[in-house]
Amino acid sequence: LSHVYKDVKQGRHYKILVNPFGGQGHAKRIWEHTAEPLFKAAGATYDLTYTTHRYHAKEIARDLNIRQYDAIISISGDGVLHEVVNGLMERPDAVVAHKLPLGAIPAGSGNALSFSLLGEDHGSHVGNAVLGILKGKAMAVDLCSVTQKNSRFFSFVLQSFGLIADVDLGSEHLRWMGEARFTVSAVGKLLSQASYPCELAYIPEESNVEKIRAEYNNRRNQPVAWADQTHDEMDQAHATIVDRYGSVVDPIKESDGWVVEKDRYITVVGAKLPWISKGSVSHPAAQPNDGLVDLLVFPKDIGRAAGLQVMIGVETGEHVFHEKVRYMKVKAFRVTPGAAAGYISVDGEHTPYEPYQVEPHRGLISVLSV
Ligand code: ADP
Ligand code: MG
Repeated sequence: LSHVYKDVKQGRHYKILVNPFGGQGHAKRIWEHTAEPLFKAAGATYDLTYTTHRYHAKEIARDLNIRQYDAIISISGDGVLHEVVNGLMERPDAVVAHKLPLGAIPAGSGNALSFSLLGEDHGSHVGNAVLGILKGKAMAVDLCSVTQKNSRFFSFVLQSFGLIADVDLGSEHLRWMGEARFTVSAVGKLLSQASYPCELAYIPEESNVEKIRAEYNNRRNQPVAWADQTHDEMDQAHATIVDRYGSVVDPIKESDGWVVEKDRYITVVGAKLPWISKGSVSHPAAQPNDGLVDLLVFPKDIGRAAGLQVMIGVETGEHVFHEKVRYMKVKAFRVTPGAAAGYISVDGEHTPYEPYQVEPHRGLISVLSV
C-alpha cells in the first residue's frame, strides 16, 4: 500500500460498498456467504454501505475520511468503481485521494476489472477476488479523462460508441440473464448490420497489429510491473491533471498528430483493460499502465458472416487480426456522433450522446491485485 496509508493502522481497514442492484441482484448474498467470512478470517476490519441509488458510491468516495481506510472495495460491476474513482478525483484533496487503493469483488454483469486481473477462468470467482484484496499489492493503473461539452470525468475501463454501447446499455431489460445479456444482444445487433455515423479522430502511437502482438507477448513473459506508488502525473500543487491534447471543444491541433476520418462504423471502442466482460477479450493487448488507450474500430458493411467470425474471435482476442478490423494504440481519441440520438457507454454507464474525447493518464489510480 502507498506510504500515505501504511502508518495508519496495523490490520487493514476497508470501506466496502455493496450494490444490491448490480448484475442479477446477488451482491448482498455474495457478500454475506462468501466474501464476509474471508474478511473475518483474515482479521480485516471494515465498514459497509449498501448503495441505495445511482451516484451513491460517488458521494461516499467524495466525502469519505480516507485516512481511516486502506482501500475501497466494491461488490458490484465496474459501474460502482467508476463512481468511486470519479468521487475521489473530485475531492479538493484529490492529490492524496487518487492513491487510495481500490478492489473489485465481481457481482455485476460487467466485471471487466475482475476478468482482466484474474483472467477468464477466475474472473467471476469471488474467493480469488477477495484473496487479491486481502493479500494483494496495490498496482498503479492508468485513468482516462473524458471531456464532453464543458464537463470532464474519468474512465478506467472502456468508452464505447455504436454496437458495444448499444449492447452495454440497451440490454438493461435482459439484466436477469447476467453476463449472457451481452452475447445475446450482440448477436442480434450484428445480424441487423446496423452502423452508426461519426467523425473519428485519434492520435496513433502504434497501428501495426503484429508489432502490438509482439510487444504484448514480450510483456506477458515479464513479471508484472508492480508499482507500489502511482506515477503521479497529477500536478502536486494544484491537485489537477492536465490534458495534453486539450478537451473535446478545442479545435484539433494538427501538430499533435491527429488523424481525422468521417464514416459509418459498427462500433468504436477505447479500452484500458483486455476483458470487457466474460468471454470478451475485446482489447487483447491493453496494458493497465502503458499510458495509452487501445482503440478497436469495426467498419460498416462488414457483412453478417464476417461479423459473426469477428464476434467468435473476440472470445480469444484473435478478432484483431481479421482483415476488416482495426486495432491500434492511441494517445487520445475523439468521437463526434453524426446522429441525433443513441448510446455512449463509459465504463458501462450512460453518457450523453455528445462528442467526447478520451486521453489516458499514466498510473493515476491504484488497484489491489495478487
Ligand atoms: P452492472 O455490472 O450489473 O452494471 P454496476 O456496478 O455497473 O453493475 O452498477 C450498475 C448501476 O447501479 C450503477 O450505475 C450504480 O450507480 C447503480 N446503483 C447503485 N446502487 C443502486 C441501487 N440501490 N438501485 C439502483 N441502482 C443502483
Ligand atoms: Mg455496469
